[in-house]
Amino acid sequence: MKNLKVFKFGGSSVRDADNVKNSASIIVSFQNQPLLIVVSAMGKTTNALEEVVGAHAAKNGKALEILNAIKEQHYQIMSGLFEPGDEVYAAVNDHFVSVEWVLEEEPHPNYDYMYDQIICAGELVSSVILAAYLNRIGLKTAWLDARDVILTDDIYREGWVQWDETVERAKAKALPLLEKGNLVVTQGFIGSTRENATTTLGREGSDYTAAIFSFCLDAEEMTIWKDVPGVLTADPRLFENVEKLDRLSYREAIEMTYYGAKVIHPKTIKPLQNKSIPLRVRSFIDPKGEGTLISGDVEDNYPPMVAVERHQALVSISTRDFSFVAEHHMSVLFSHIADLRLQVNMMQNTAISFVVCVNDIDDKVERFAQSMQKDFKVLIDRNLELITVRHSLPTVLENLRKGKILLMEERTKDTVQMVVKNVQVLDWKGD
Ligand code: ASP
Ligand code: MG
Repeated sequence: MKNLKVFKFGGSSVRDADNVKNSASIIVSFQNQPLLIVVSAMGKTTNALEEVVGAHAAKNGKALEILNAIKEQHYQIMSGLFEPGDEVYAAVNDHFVSVEWVLEEEPHPNYDYMYDQIICAGELVSSVILAAYLNRIGLKTAWLDARDVILTDDIYREGWVQWDETVERAKAKALPLLEKGNLVVTQGFIGSTRENATTTLGREGSDYTAAIFSFCLDAEEMTIWKDVPGVLTADPRLFENVEKLDRLSYREAIEMTYYGAKVIHPKTIKPLQNKSIPLRVRSFIDPKGEGTLISGDVEDNYPPMVAVERHQALVSISTRDFSFVAEHHMSVLFSHIADLRLQVNMMQNTAISFVVCVNDIDDKVERFAQSMQKDFKVLIDRNLELITVRHSLPTVLENLRKGKILLMEERTKDTVQMVVKNVQVLDWKGD
């Protein structure tokens, strides 16, 4: 659609009433052109809902209590935005009631399925609240259920988008709303299966949702509004002297985000690149700032950039009978990795062994090891970090290695990657 902009507002940009108002004021300043807004759950709601899921699965009797605290927070935020008795309260309550229904049942045997049916509430209520607030301040706003648009397969918590149907559905559902002059507000992170069960696209997936809508509707530009001035050369919580990058190529952005530069979800870039849709990363704290522009035509001349990914595991697999790994076993190993949708960040092999560095989230590594144990010797080393450096300089590498044990390293033309263990510095005086 001509002139369409897609905005993504993350959890911290709507974490309380003041921030909702701030995000709304940014939206107001763009109201003269078609706009589709993708919003995440408010603040840390998704983490809290994960606790609800965990409590329900463990049957420890705490699930409802945690849910009530989440509800309370939302009502608190709403009280700063709406009059008592506004119809938005009932709309929000309906979504919480859906979660209560799930909690009334026995925990579903498929944990990931149950997770998605509960976790979606965060985005559903935040989008209802934002849309209602925009209407209240006089912007004609339509609320769109992203599950009516984004069709995924039925791998819960990590749904893969079924593109052709999603494009069709976006054109059928979102376009008419935009054409009638509505601002459209929808949810990040969620989709649905063909049988209408809710799925999610992976944690932090709202950026990806915005890219999916941008792709489907041929947006002119997509913007992610964040609490940082743009894409930085490293995480300012971990490093000093970080710089903001003014421009970045799609390629550079995808390389860095895949390996843990948390600023954008890694899946975001591909749909944008495929249609040459520029992506801006801008600050909602300083909306006048230029931010970072990510697009195709950027000259590759970058300062060193560092991304650190925590929660890594090294899984070493060796053959018990000394048969060669490469000749006989690679395809078996890779098919297990693919079945589990494990993200492989680095790998190396020797004659009889194969080592992979993978993200150690939920129980995937455990399941992978178990599936291999029958035929191979398997060792797992956990609590590691993966450090990825692009356009490195020798002094940068030297500094990064300090206080760490290097377990695996790989160098290619523009990239150095290291899997490290942090050495704990013990206080020898004993206090
Ligand atoms: N609310 C989801 C999460 O926290 C999705 C997102 O924020 O992008 O993971
Ligand atoms: Mg987020």
